[in-house]
Amino acid sequence: MGELLADHTTLRLGGPADRFLTHTDPAAWPDLAHAASSSDTAPFVLGGGSNTLAADTGYPGTVIRMATRGIAVRPLDGDLVEVTAQAGEPLDAFVAFTVTEGLSGIEYLGGIPGTTGAAPVQNTGAYGQQISDTLTRLTVYDWALGRTHALLPGECGFGYRTSTFKTQPGRFTILDVSLRLTRQACASPVRYQQLADALAVRLGARPPLAEAAQAVLTDRRTRGLSLPSEGPDVRQAGSVFLNPLVVRAQATAIRAAGGPVHNSPDGTLRASAGWLLEQTGFLPGTQVGSGVYCSQDRALTLTARDDATAASFTTALEVLVHAVLTTHRIRLQREPVQPHRRSLSLRRTSLG
Ligand SMILES: Cc1cc2nc3c(=O)[nH]c(=O)nc-3n(C[C@H](O)[C@H](O)[C@H](O)COP(=O)(O)OP(=O)(O)OC[C@H]3O[C@@H](n4cnc5c(N)ncnc54)[C@H](O)[C@@H]3O)c2cc1C
Repeated sequence: MGELLADHTTLRLGGPADRFLTHTDPAAWPDLAHAASSSDTAPFVLGGGSNTLAADTGYPGTVIRMATRGIAVRPLDGDLVEVTAQAGEPLDAFVAFTVTEGLSGIEYLGGIPGTTGAAPVQNTGAYGQQISDTLTRLTVYDWALGRTHALLPGECGFGYRTSTFKTQPGRFTILDVSLRLTRQACASPVRYQQLADALAVRLGARPPLAEAAQAVLTDRRTRGLSLPSEGPDVRQAGSVFLNPLVVRAQATAIRAAGGPVHNSPDGTLRASAGWLLEQTGFLPGTQVGSGVYCSQDRALTLTARDDATAASFTTALEVLVHAVLTTHRIRLQREPVQPHRRSLSLRRTSLG
């Protein structure tokens, strides 16, 4: 039997891959890409598996796990530096490195599981900061063109928890990520009320860099936003739904009922998916399906326990989508990715 995807995902779900390759040496990428592109199907690229819901039947093709490590710092003008991380570098370790080096720009992304190479895929973000805010360049392998090249931020289609890598899955493998950070003693402005409260500062304040980064880690642990090392919530992929877009009338009704609505920088309004679930009766700890529960701390995190399967997890997601749609007339959109086979020839016809 092939390598089990359950051994490489934080949900610990997923059957065997037909073929499983691990990428550890940046210089060996051309050989690995050559070996992986022998079929007409794009390989599925896996980072830390913290946002992946793999099927019980596994993956009928090649899976490449990105495990390259390394961080390089290049001084730019004045206090600016460009920092480049290999795709397999854990995001949390990358954030900790930048904070230790006194570099500001991703200090609020600490404590998020997974790899740096996966962060641009869903434009990973937290506490009002997202990876696209400081991104300057990506090195990618383009499976449609069969070559490595650079992509600039404007070519990545970034939005709220989305990017070209999410909308054109399988086309690009991110090999390294470059960010422009600022050498300074203070953090980026605090944009999140809960963090401001934890730091006892006002919104917009710029607390000391290390203090801000530490407050994020503490707040994540307190609110069940960290991946626990043991206990009933250990198998999870974090939030299972995006905060949904709502129109003004829906936002008004939600606010009147005491619910939060966030104003996005692009002028759109987003309700809190967690609040909607709780209003629908799914409180922390509720069982949603066979072996699938809302986590002890938050409704929006589903955990897999005991006899959970990818199928029962998927059914539980459908139950929640249906319940919120029926009660609030709002359709929730899933966050974890489900690996599907992608034909290389199909994607060649849709080059943009
Ligand atoms: C406890 C917990 C808390 C979380 N908190 C947050 C949060 O605050 N904010 C947030 O945005 N997310 C959060 N997440 C979700 C997840 O951790 C992030 O989205 C993370 O960036 C995913 O990284 P990964 O390496 O685990 O991705 P994976 O699950 O391995 O992959 C996710 C997707 O990215 C693709 N991919 C992975 N690596 C590459 C690559 N090098 N090139 C191209 N495609 C690639 C995969 O094919 C897949 O489609 C949380 C998850 C958990 C379990």
